[in-house]
Amino acid sequence: MTWQETNRYKTILHAAEAGKYGVIAAIAYNIEQILGLVQAAETAKSPLIIQFFPWAITATDGLLVRTAAEAAKRASVPISIHLDHAQSEAIIKRAADTLPFDSIMVDMSHYEKEENLAKTRALVEYCNARQIATEAEPGRIEGGEDGVMDTAGLKACMTTAEEVDEFVGTGVDALAPAFGNVHGEYGPAGPQLDYERFEQIRQQARGRVHFALHGTNGFSPETLKYCVAAGVTKINVNRLVLDDYYDHLRANVGKMPHTQLIEEGIQKVADLTVRWMEICGSAGKA
Ligand SMILES: [Zn+2]
Repeated sequence: MTWQETNRYKTILHAAEAGKYGVIAAIAYNIEQILGLVQAAETAKSPLIIQFFPWAITATDGLLVRTAAEAAKRASVPISIHLDHAQSEAIIKRAADTLPFDSIMVDMSHYEKEENLAKTRALVEYCNARQIATEAEPGRIEGGEDGVMDTAGLKACMTTAEEVDEFVGTGVDALAPAFGNVHGEYGPAGPQLDYERFEQIRQQARGRVHFALHGTNGFSPETLKYCVAAGVTKINVNRLVLDDYYDHLRANVGKMPHTQLIEEGIQKVADLTVRWMEICGSAGKA
């Protein structure tokens, strides 16, 4: 068997594509969140992708990633470990060479297109040589998040059909298209997604890549269900599954024993994540 047939990221997304459901790809910042996410996947009998910003590597010297990989290994359901928005060659090589990632997002979207494509191609090859799958962002999703370069000064560009072919040509396994989605927070009007554009992108891809949805803070269940029905299989989430946890901390820090604060925090992450797994249709699929 080739590594592509056993790579967790690829097998999880392949099954989601076939089963027409979305898989939660949740950012984690600490061990409570990792434990809550894994608990949710086991409770819901759902596949899961746990992902990290490069911040987690530098801030914890990779320990948080290793913890998640160990938790994934012990879990009774398929869980893969992903690096989101790796924006420099140095961090991508460090992650690929030294840490247990199943997949890495090679995000060169802050470069102009030709350079973006050339760098993406070379880094995809580097990751694949280490049996790591990849994701890339054609076009440019607006905004910034936790140590990820803010593109506010750069022009946000919606993904075009032409870019789909160019990026598929780099060998990536998944694309994160820009079709009105934004990193960070949406304005008062909420997300204004261009579904027609996404459908064109999907058709152009002709099943050669999976689709990752970035920028889901504040999404309604209906919007997310619509995106899954449209063909997105990797659902990047941040505050969508973590908000109850932060509310819990704000309300209870200093008012209960720290151990209880932690344990109830884990449960808050788990409960909210199960709800979104049900919304995405992945519950019961593992
Ligand atoms: Zn993103």
